[in-house]
Formats: sequence, structure tokens, C-alpha cells
Amino acid sequence: MLTNVLKQITTKCSVSKLYCVASFGFSTLGNTQPHVCIVGSGPAGFGVAQTLLKNHEQVQVDMFEKIPVPFGLIRYGVSPDHQDVKNAINGYSQTATSERFSFFGNVDIGQDVSLPELLSAYHAVVLCYGAQEEATFNISGKNLKNVFSSKQFVGWYNGNPEFQNLDVNLSGKSAAIIGVGNVALDCARMLLKPTEQLQETDITSSALKTLQKSNIKSVYLVGRRGPMQMACTRKELSEVAGLECVNTFVEENCFSKSVETALKSKDLARRKQRRLVAYLQKVSKQVKDDTSEDTKKLYLKLLRSPVALESKNDDLIANVKLIKREMQGEDAFNPTFTDTNVVENLPCDIVVSCIGYQNAVISDDIPFVDGKIMNKNGKVDDRKDLFTCGWCSHGAKGVLADSSNDSLVTGASVLSNLDQLASDKNCNGSNDIVPKILQRGLQITSWKDWKTIDSFEIKRGQKLGKVREKVVSCDEMLQIANEGKSNEANTSEK
Ligand code: FAD
Repeated sequence: MLTNVLKQITTKCSVSKLYCVASFGFSTLGNTQPHVCIVGSGPAGFGVAQTLLKNHEQVQVDMFEKIPVPFGLIRYGVSPDHQDVKNAINGYSQTATSERFSFFGNVDIGQDVSLPELLSAYHAVVLCYGAQEEATFNISGKNLKNVFSSKQFVGWYNGNPEFQNLDVNLSGKSAAIIGVGNVALDCARMLLKPTEQLQETDITSSALKTLQKSNIKSVYLVGRRGPMQMACTRKELSEVAGLECVNTFVEENCFSKSVETALKSKDLARRKQRRLVAYLQKVSKQVKDDTSEDTKKLYLKLLRSPVALESKNDDLIANVKLIKREMQGEDAFNPTFTDTNVVENLPCDIVVSCIGYQNAVISDDIPFVDGKIMNKNGKVDDRKDLFTCGWCSHGAKGVLADSSNDSLVTGASVLSNLDQLASDKNCNGSNDIVPKILQRGLQITSWKDWKTIDSFEIKRGQKLGKVREKVVSCDEMLQIANEGKSNEANTSEK
């Protein structure tokens, strides 16, 4: 059955890269209503929820989320100037209107409730909890002031409650960003973009104020490998390199002979890389004034490894020590890289390391290998009732469209096992687990509570001419939810 379902999905997905869900007409065996629990409310979680609800007439889907509000990295990762991407929440909110969907926010699985407890309350559990940890940045000086990980920096401007006390100092002139992927480009863009273009977005007012006062004039993007290895698209790069107020400098010597040969290749699978590098080459040839005070500058520093972060006399970052690297081999798509003895100093006033995210282990019951949950088509190895999807299943790579496709595959795996699982076990989902959580003294937020917080944020944003002004403390979110409930109770009493 799974093969059949996957075949239909593949056909549908190749027709449209959009959020495509086929109707497979699953039926239930017997009378037991299947209860499925989804851990995490990001794109993967909502994608799986949608697949299940659309394709099974009886399934009850309960979604548990660590913080009081939904949407994962759509809310706290995707850049405020990518509101079109953030609009994905409209589709997720539509899914949440199903009578067979419930949201339980402010419940940390692994901390507040264990995975075995969830498994005993549900016929199937789907892990969609993203990649929550920062990749290790093992370099001396990483604890100096004004050195941040992308998780911290992105979370700071996006209103993630965890990072609202970050002391971001933009009084200096230059920033070094370690990494050349799409997250690094987001960070560079936020530092270089005119703030007038951010003020109507959902960036927090406090981050906006800091950016408005910023003195940063130059941003250095540092990459360990060559141009063909940059983990971004031409469009993502041109969003920052093409800013009117920004001059971009790319060193011509990163286009070695092998890169030139690779640019002429006709290999369709490498088209994305070739388009990116052809754009870089064009930018490298443009003549710009490096001395002008009026424009901001973006410098692409490829083939360099950071080896130390240094301060002057205090504990504030002042310099990144870099080792130059060489690219060897005929094939620029698959070269080898070696360190040289050449050391370079990059004076800078703030550092953001954008070297990726990694999986958190939320239970010893999950088979992890190399930071990935071992699974086949979303079904966790050696488990009959445990599934996984999105960044926690395969590591932190891919964009929204990938999560949508993943969720169709995992959803199909769940669906093909669900009726059997439901007839094998007697369990009642949230009726079994929620009383236990409440007994532990935790406040759970519902979808209705989220809608109260959502309206609050939108109204507050409207007064400031912004799409929303986020609530940046979990306690305040819970308070707003409680006030919403008591207002409703008062209204119905009258
Ligand atoms: P997540 O979005 O991380 O969702 C996981 C959810 O699980 C979170 O809500 C988290 O709070 C919750 N959770 C974690 N642990 C627990 C627990 N123990 N118990 C309960 N809940 C838990 N893609 C694009 O298409 N366009 C972009 O412009 C774009 N920009 C990005 C910018 C940044 C900085 C980053 C990091 C990513 C960006 N992406 C973008 C990629 C996109 O965000 C991811 O592909 C997508 O969010 C992955 O979805 P996910 O559901 O696997 O994980």
C-alpha cells in the first residue's frame, strides 16, 4: 500500500511543487478512532497534520509544542523581510480549523512529558521537533562579547523569547559572518538593508531600533570552500548583493580554471550552482568604489577558515584570524581543500557564526546516528508506532518546499500503518495525557489561546504600522491567553 501511496505522491509532486496533497481515500478498520500525536508545530508538523486530516476521515491529530505559540522557524527563523514565506502560516491555520485537530502549546516533550508516556497515550507519534541545537563552533575566543550564533542573532531580531536579552552592539563599523549559506545571507541582509524596508515587517521594535542606530558599514562573508560549494541560490545571494545601497566585492581569484570549466558544463543537476557562480563572476567584474563612505559594502571571502577570534584589551571581539585555503583538483564541483600557511586578519566589531543547526536528543528511545533519526520514509527504524519528519528526521537542511514534500511521504507512512495500529491498542490520546500534564502544574495553550495572542500582536502592530508586533516573553503570552479566557467568560455571563 505504501508503495502505491508514494507513487501517487511522487506523481502529484512532480506536477506541482506547491503544497500538494492527494486524496487516497483511506478507510478505518473497525470502530476505534485513531489518535495521532505530532511533536512540534513547524512546517513539518503542520504538513503531516494536513496530510493525515485530508486523507483519513476519523483520525484525531493532537499537536504538542514546546512554547506557547505555533509555527517554529516560520515565526522565529525566516527573515522578517520574507513575509511571503511567512504567509505559509495561513495554510497551517486553515488546517488547525479542523474539528479533529487540537493544539497543546507550552508542553516540552522530553521535559514535561516523556516520549514513552506519549506513545502509551497515542496510536502513533510523529516527531517533527526540528533541529534545535546550534552546530558546535569550536574556536578560541568564541565567548568574546558581540560574538553570536545565527540561532541567537536570528532569534533576537525575530522575537524568540530565548534571545531577547542578547546584548547586540552595532556601534562598530564592520561585521564578520562565518558561513555562506542562506542563513548567513539573511544575517548579512539584516545588517545592510535600509531599515525603512524593515519597519513594516514583524521584526521586533527593539531590534529595529538597534538596527536604525547601527554604524555597520561593511559585512564580510567568510566561507571555507569555493564558489561552487556555497549553500545558497543565486536569488538568495542577489537579495543582498543586489541591494541598491550595497557594493559587493568578490575576489576574482576564486574563479580558478576548474571553476571556469565547470561553468561551461551542461549538467542539469548542477544548474543551480552554475547560475550562482555565473552571477558571482558578473559581480566580481563590476567596478566599484571601495572608498566611498555613502555606500555599504559586502565582501565575499571564500577559501578561508577562521582559526581564532581575538579582542584588543577588553573582552570585546576585534579580529577574526583566518587561514587561507587552496582548492585542488580538476572538478570544481568536487574539489579537495587544503589549508595554506597564510594567515589573514579580519578586523571586525561583531561576529555571527552561521554554521548550521543540529538535532537535540529528546529521548533515549529514539535511534540517532550522525544527528539523524534513523527512518525509512518517515517510519522510525525498529518501531511500529513512531514516525518522524522535517529537520529532526534528516538534519538541518532544506527549505519549506522540502518540508512539504517530506510531510507527504511521512504522512503516507503513518496512514498505511494507522488502522492496524488503532485496532492493536486501546488508547485515548489527549484524554489520557492532558490530565497528567495539568497535574504537573503546567499551563497548556490551546489554538484559541494562540488566536487571542495572534490578534493582540496584530492589533499592537497596526498601531505601529507593522504587520504584527510579537509578544516576546512566554509569561506574557500565557497572561494574554488567560485574559482572553476571562474576557470571554465575563461576556458570556452578561
Ligand atoms: P521547525 O520549523 O524548527 O519546527 C520545529 C518545532 O518543534 C518548533 O516549533 C519547536 O519549538 C518545536 N519543538 C522543539 N523541541 C520540542 C519539544 N521537545 N517538544 C515540543 N515541541 C518542540 N525556508 C524557506 O523556505 N524560506 C526561507 O526564507 C527560510 N529562511 C530560514 C531562515 C532561517 C534562519 C532558518 C534557520 C531556516 C529558514 N528556512 C527557510 C528553512 C525552514 O525554516 C525549515 O525548512 C523549516 O522550518 C523546517 O521545519 P521543521 O518543522 O522541521 O522544524
